[in-house]
Amino acid sequence: MKFTVNRLKRHWARVLLFVTLASLGVLFTIATALSVADFLKLLFNDDSMGGAATSGNLVAQALEWLYGQLIVYGTGKALVYFSIFVLVTYTLKNLFCYLAAVAMARLRCRLLQEIRNDLYAKTLRMPIGYYVTHRKGDILSRFGGDMIEYEENVINAFQTFVNSVVSIMLYLLMLFYINVKLTGFVLLMLPLIVFVISGITRRLRRNSVELQERSARLTAMMEESLMGLKIIKAYTAIDFFNRHFRKQNRDYTKLRVSVFRRIDMASPVSEFMGNVIVIGILLFGSLLIMRADHGLSPELFVSYITLFVLMIPPAKELTTAISQMKKGRGCEERLQEMLDEEEEPRSEGLTFEGLQSSIEFRGVSFRYRAADSAETERPWVLDDINLTVPKGCQVALVGGSGSGKSTLVDLLSRFYDVSQGQLLLDGRPIQEYSIASLRSRIGVVSQDTMLFNDTVAANIAFGSPQASREQIEEAARVANAHDFIMQLPNGYDTNIGDHGESLSGGQRQRISIARAVLRHPDILILDEATSALDTESERLVQQALDQVLQGRTALIIAHRLSTISHVDNIVVLESGRIVEQGTHHELMALGGRYRQLVQLQQVDGEKNTTTTEPKE
Ligand code: ADP
Repeated sequence: MKFTVNRLKRHWARVLLFVTLASLGVLFTIATALSVADFLKLLFNDDSMGGAATSGNLVAQALEWLYGQLIVYGTGKALVYFSIFVLVTYTLKNLFCYLAAVAMARLRCRLLQEIRNDLYAKTLRMPIGYYVTHRKGDILSRFGGDMIEYEENVINAFQTFVNSVVSIMLYLLMLFYINVKLTGFVLLMLPLIVFVISGITRRLRRNSVELQERSARLTAMMEESLMGLKIIKAYTAIDFFNRHFRKQNRDYTKLRVSVFRRIDMASPVSEFMGNVIVIGILLFGSLLIMRADHGLSPELFVSYITLFVLMIPPAKELTTAISQMKKGRGCEERLQEMLDEEEEPRSEGLTFEGLQSSIEFRGVSFRYRAADSAETERPWVLDDINLTVPKGCQVALVGGSGSGKSTLVDLLSRFYDVSQGQLLLDGRPIQEYSIASLRSRIGVVSQDTMLFNDTVAANIAFGSPQASREQIEEAARVANAHDFIMQLPNGYDTNIGDHGESLSGGQRQRISIARAVLRHPDILILDEATSALDTESERLVQQALDQVLQGRTALIIAHRLSTISHVDNIVVLESGRIVEQGTHHELMALGGRYRQLVQLQQVDGEKNTTTTEPKE
């Protein structure tokens, strides 16, 4: 609830407007209900409206006054005027209810807009490490399911809650004003209702939190299965997954049914309770009238009952709203939890002005954080890495998959922080630099090119919004992309479709190289930039990369060893440790792991009749 209340506080003026309009709506309902007394009087032409009632009771006096105004026209006409009066008050009531609903609609849309913005911004600002320990399906379900749930339960409930509290308070005030004794009697019976209803709703909250979790699990399972569909089929695991899903879905459905049962029970039970009270009032009120000494006239008693009956729906809605709010508390907590996650510090620290002397990994070890405290520590992914990359040098990282290459370069972008040892830039620990300034100086080209449904020029300028068209073209030339871009229907203004699907893999890659070039990166990270390409594309991309690499400090993860034979230093990683390092010639002469890898690829190369052997 705090989550919503804090947000509503920022919109207090809108809330106040809503409450005011809703109150006006109720006041006009009350006016309509009270005038029933006059109507009865007119109808029965009864001039004897309880003398006791007029004694100091403003309501009775007002009614008396209205009656006096109308009766001068004679009963027939008075009834017509009276009908017009009721029509007007009733229309006003509807008008204010409508205006209140409009005010609330604005408020709720604004609130949801803010939460969506906050969630999205949070998603971008949380450290990459967060996503190691949290499932994507879980995050998506907060953005999708939880938001819907939040609107349906919490916001709706809030609207109903305020509406019914305002109504009940005003009705009660009026009831007290008409007759204190009778209303006191009614209030004595209220705790009975509350007791019964709260018994029903108590378990609702616990169940609904679990419901959320189970629903998220189903979504996560769907997502995992989509991602791993090939594997599932290849391992003929369809039945296994199906069974597993059905079981989860069955448990989830069972729980839902029981939650619904409880929600549905709240309404008839409270209605029954309402009826019990109405009968109580009838008996007690009649007693008061018969004794004729408690200021209650029969007409006013009818108005009293009308008002009381009018109070039952909001009272019922109040209990529903409370149970809904309880149900929604789970998703509120989940939204809050995500919004409370720590963000990556962005601009604190020194500004990284560019590499002056070297990058140095000094005894660096790293392991991914465990998902929660229940999980045992994860294994070391990097183990005592000592490596110096002087400014302007290019270092290649090779090794089998899972040997820690990507993790090592991720440390340089500070996607993760080292667990032990130090990563130094120009002799200073990398943590001393601000993340934003650091990343703005690092260019990354990886095998997944992240292109957007926009023009070629906009895709190249991604991350450098101030770049001029000349600069964009210059970057494209360096990246060997200018010629093919000019052949596109609208050149640089051609829209490349979703994820650049209208381009070949090599073309996409060259666009992403141009993008990196445009930022004039000081340090370049190439992460298997050519591994997903065919030989011809690879040649073009490699040409582009060779141009880009000139004079730059670079860390290169290469799958095809032929592409890195000329770099200054080749580092061979195995299970997170450096096992060999040196130039291509040195390592070939050493005859160790590197030579083995090269030879393996040569055999593969011959098999595939593509020559990828390194130039010696
Ligand atoms: P490479 O790039 O050489 O293939 P990685 O650096 O990707 O190796 O992975 C090294 C090890 O770290 C692997 O055992 C891998 O399972 C583990 N690993 C990689 N990314 C994550 C992650 N996000 N969460 C947990 N473990 C990871």
